[in-house]
Amino acid sequence: MKTLNTKNNRWTGGICSIKELKKQIRLTPKEEKEMEEVVKIHPMLISNYYLSLINKKDRHDPIRKMIVPSGKELITAGSYDTSGEHRNTKMPGLQHKYRQTAFILATNRCAAYCRFCFRKRLVGLSDKEVIRRFDKAVSYIKKHKEINNVLISGGDPFVLPTKVLKTFLEKLLPIKHLDFIRFGTRTPVTFPQRIINDQSLLKLLKKYSVRGRHIYVVTHFNHPKEITKYSQKAIDLLQNANVQIHNQAVLLKGVNDNPDTLAKLINKLIKIDVLPYYVFQCRPVKRVKNHFQVPLYRGFKIFKEAKSKIKGHIICKRLKYIMSHRTGKIEIIGILKDRIYFKYHHAKNSKDTSRLFSQKLNKTAGWLDELE
Ligand code: SF4
Repeated sequence: MKTLNTKNNRWTGGICSIKELKKQIRLTPKEEKEMEEVVKIHPMLISNYYLSLINKKDRHDPIRKMIVPSGKELITAGSYDTSGEHRNTKMPGLQHKYRQTAFILATNRCAAYCRFCFRKRLVGLSDKEVIRRFDKAVSYIKKHKEINNVLISGGDPFVLPTKVLKTFLEKLLPIKHLDFIRFGTRTPVTFPQRIINDQSLLKLLKKYSVRGRHIYVVTHFNHPKEITKYSQKAIDLLQNANVQIHNQAVLLKGVNDNPDTLAKLINKLIKIDVLPYYVFQCRPVKRVKNHFQVPLYRGFKIFKEAKSKIKGHIICKRLKYIMSHRTGKIEIIGILKDRIYFKYHHAKNSKDTSRLFSQKLNKTAGWLDELE
């Protein structure tokens, strides 16, 4: 099992070469050759736990698709910065796109590298976008009183040593105008042992997550198979530490792009008290778009049908199908005749806030920019 070396902040163990992967999963010579090409561009990392979730007899296993490199990543359609992150960067590791939210890019590492990642440009690669001077970011947040929340993400901040997370919290929590802090982490899904085996992390979260000023974990389950007794245990422990847990899923071709799978995921999340609040349209990321993106038209049909199958009706009302566009978070609200309708849920430019608009429907378009 992987362990974290807190001295050099590196994970040890896990599968990170095609040679090791071949011992676990049967690969054709063509697949092997293509994968070798792919991992030269985007590294592979599969935690032993996540690897164990793959049905090795099923070439179309959804976990396999999410984590095992594919020759389809050699298709370069798309871009590496679909949400305008560079333009919103105020200093390395600090983005300020929405008025009330500061975003800290805490690391370029994760417990496992998802092949659909929208920050593919940096995970397991360059750390030049990662926060260097946390104190400088804190000063920026202090000066910008309109900021009421901070999202710490990456990469995956929970791969950082607990003492680093403690420093983050101790520097941010005294800022009076902050109402809440969120950690974006996929460790409950790909490496729940990170949470299960670290009492100090749980104590830290419990100490600082208090009524009226909770710490939130935004996690990322995409498929019902990812909800196991281990992930559930990690979620239980976080909940016992007073942490509020929300889930953002991404609609992914060949993974969860059918109403039954999506509804099953949502229903299972509700059962373990994880609030599913966004289903994201897969971004047109370079080396991801072709492999994973579902057209908006089909995505909306899947989402709508899945919603009709969800049992927890109150939660169901909050669930939104969202496109995280460079101009804001845009909800896909409906299709009528030859038009597709949208609403800004969050807008970069305040004049767009809550704005409704429609575009001519194009059944193959996967992103707003592809519509007329
Ligand atoms: S854990 Fe998150 S940041 Fe890391 S590769 Fe997966 S989706 Fe990307």
